[in-house]
Amino acid sequence: MPFQETDLTSISPTRLWVPKHVMITRAAADLPHTAEIIRRCGRAGVDDIRFLSGNALTGLRGASDRETYASAKNTLAVVVAPPSALKPQPIPPSADWRIDLARGCPAHCQYCYLAGSLQGPPVTRVHANLDDVLEGIRTHAGRGSVTRGTLKRGDEGTTFEMSCYTDPLAIENVTGSLAAAISRVGAGEFGSDVQLRFTTKFDDVGELVTLDHGRRTRIRFSVNAAEVANRFEGGTARMPARLAALRAVATAGYRVGLTIAPVMPVPGWREQYGALLDDISEALAGIPDLDLTAEIITHRFTPASKEVLLGWYPRTKLEMDEDSRSQKRSKFGGVKYVYPRQTMAEMRGWFTEELERRLPAARPLYWT
Ligand code: SF4
Repeated sequence: MPFQETDLTSISPTRLWVPKHVMITRAAADLPHTAEIIRRCGRAGVDDIRFLSGNALTGLRGASDRETYASAKNTLAVVVAPPSALKPQPIPPSADWRIDLARGCPAHCQYCYLAGSLQGPPVTRVHANLDDVLEGIRTHAGRGSVTRGTLKRGDEGTTFEMSCYTDPLAIENVTGSLAAAISRVGAGEFGSDVQLRFTTKFDDVGELVTLDHGRRTRIRFSVNAAEVANRFEGGTARMPARLAALRAVATAGYRVGLTIAPVMPVPGWREQYGALLDDISEALAGIPDLDLTAEIITHRFTPASKEVLLGWYPRTKLEMDEDSRSQKRSKFGGVKYVYPRQTMAEMRGWFTEELERRLPAARPLYWT
């Protein structure tokens, strides 16, 4: 069924995370962004908001791993990002620099790419020193070589990725960090040649479509074949809701994108991903000035991420079989397990052709 005309004044999310517990560290307590977080938590109906006497997060462990996981995923910690975490880092192939509004995510994806890179119980930590986090945009605008100055993506200016360690839209309801970043960049506070970007599996875009974003933010939606999304992406907005949100933000003039990830050669993958591309094409029909990109990432895991994921999701049906994978070594000697060369070549060829055929508006950025 074709998408209806999108009414931007009446968008309501299908999936909204409301933490059961909010902990505010001492260092974060008096910062202006913390006041906004408290306001939003109150509006969302959170009644357990605790001010800690120090900066350590305590009491995160439950009686069992299961309890620890459940309690951490229901907790928002308001913390101050230390100076070491504030320095923007290059983040190829996505962006020139990474800036972190938060670390951690309340959703339950069984392949979560954060597993193995964040330590301890999976609590979501939002950075209350937002001004310091955004200062990285000022200091690094005009620098960088991942996308800036390249033939393919130089027109984006200096790019800043905000979803390396979180899904920022998942927590926007109770943080407001994205709205602040998008508005300030949109107003030109950091110059005209910078671009924010983030990817999400959520659909809470009602506030974002009202902002003066100046077309300086690219909102990408993480999309997948129905079988993968329905089976492995717990706690996220369902695919039709993500596509409706994609249409809404594109209608509001945002640059948009697709993060097709993690691609898996599930049975019937050609038909399933074909249906996905057709649904996206339908969702974006008739949008004026559409600026659409596509990033395609195949599934991979590391020994550390597998161990963490099996701890979190012991009954997962996610394939993480080293014997059926190829090893890829990073320049620091780490190992990741990717699909074998022939499977990769088949999938890459299929996506290259079908993206062009079914979704010619999409500009492919990279395949990995
Ligand atoms: S939405 Fe992203 S960050 Fe959050 S659990 Fe899923 S994969 Fe992890």
